[in-house]
Amino acid sequence: MLIFHKRAWAEVDTGKLKRNIEKISSCVTDKTELIAVVKADAYGHGAREVCKCLTDCGVNFFAVSNLDEAKSVRSYCPESDILILGYSSTDYAKVLVRDNIIQGVVSLENAQILSEKAEGVLRCHIKLDTGMGRIGVKHNSIMDSADEIEAITKLPNLSVEGIYTHFAVADSENPEDVEYTKTQRDTIVAVYDELVNRGIKLKHLHFLNSAGTMYHYDERSTLARVGIIMYGLHPNSEMKMPIEIEPIMELKAIISQVKTIEKGDFVSYGRTFKADKSITLATVPIGYADGYSRFLSSKGEALVRGTRCKIVGRVCMDQLMLDVSHIPDLKVDEIVTLIGRDGDEVITADDVASLYGTIGYEVVCGISKRVPRIVK
Ligand SMILES: *Cc1c(COP(=O)(O)O)cnc(C)c1O
Repeated sequence: MLIFHKRAWAEVDTGKLKRNIEKISSCVTDKTELIAVVKADAYGHGAREVCKCLTDCGVNFFAVSNLDEAKSVRSYCPESDILILGYSSTDYAKVLVRDNIIQGVVSLENAQILSEKAEGVLRCHIKLDTGMGRIGVKHNSIMDSADEIEAITKLPNLSVEGIYTHFAVADSENPEDVEYTKTQRDTIVAVYDELVNRGIKLKHLHFLNSAGTMYHYDERSTLARVGIIMYGLHPNSEMKMPIEIEPIMELKAIISQVKTIEKGDFVSYGRTFKADKSITLATVPIGYADGYSRFLSSKGEALVRGTRCKIVGRVCMDQLMLDVSHIPDLKVDEIVTLIGRDGDEVITADDVASLYGTIGYEVVCGISKRVPRIVK
């Protein structure tokens, strides 16, 4: 049990994580295995506890963004497969071999240097850029891509276990975007099949992310790299999902002071809020250093005793103020829910995100290290 001082904290519910995984599993056939994407400390939820829970659920394949994350996951998941989706400097080829980490390979040149430096068998998946324009072997034609991938498979020291690509607009209903996703899918499948024609039968071909799994499921993808939906958030909060998932994290804090301010009084930096009547103000010790964005100044809401309260004035580094005029007799140390449920009211990370033009992903990833994660 983690000892913490009640100030601001995030509660992570592994029971909900389990239920989300069960529901996600029901959307794929036995041709597809889940890769749990636990990059960025499991999207801010705490990778150690999330991986532990997922291992108990039978998930044995994890994806991360970089070598530091891979090494952490390796330290608590000694038996699992771990794939680095992003680039690692070839200087670390030997570390990848030693820790049995699967590296995403982004080009023939990248593969050649890894092969030279590995001094042992380095497991890898080759990334094909079919339209994301980020990393991976740049796709021009099926034959060219197959040639480059084939050349990589012939290099010494590399054990190529699969190829993969990443969708750019799988979370969109726009017909052009749907077509784009289909083209990305058809491209990687055609490259894979061309490799098979050439006698190269790789174990894995994968292209599904959360949105892909929800809206474009295809059992040719032997792995589904699911991130955001495991955490109970939506790839696109405007689009209905085929399953109901629950957010697994809640962000809470206590009330540090309650006071009445008079008409004409100002609140917080910049004096952006001026009371037009007498109001009751509650101060809450959470701020942008905790990852509760300053863009939520005078916009965000929080739940207190199951009711919505507006943030007044600027969010400070360590504190913010709420208008609690409608709540009688509010006491210090009572609980404030910034993200989560209190009674019948709910504020999701997606709701918070939409207030300042971002996505739920950024809100949960942004909850800072200063906030203890309390896992239940
Ligand atoms: C982050 C990431 C994912 C997971 O994306 P979600 O939308 O969270 O499911 C999958 N694949 C790659 C390559 C990624 O970078």
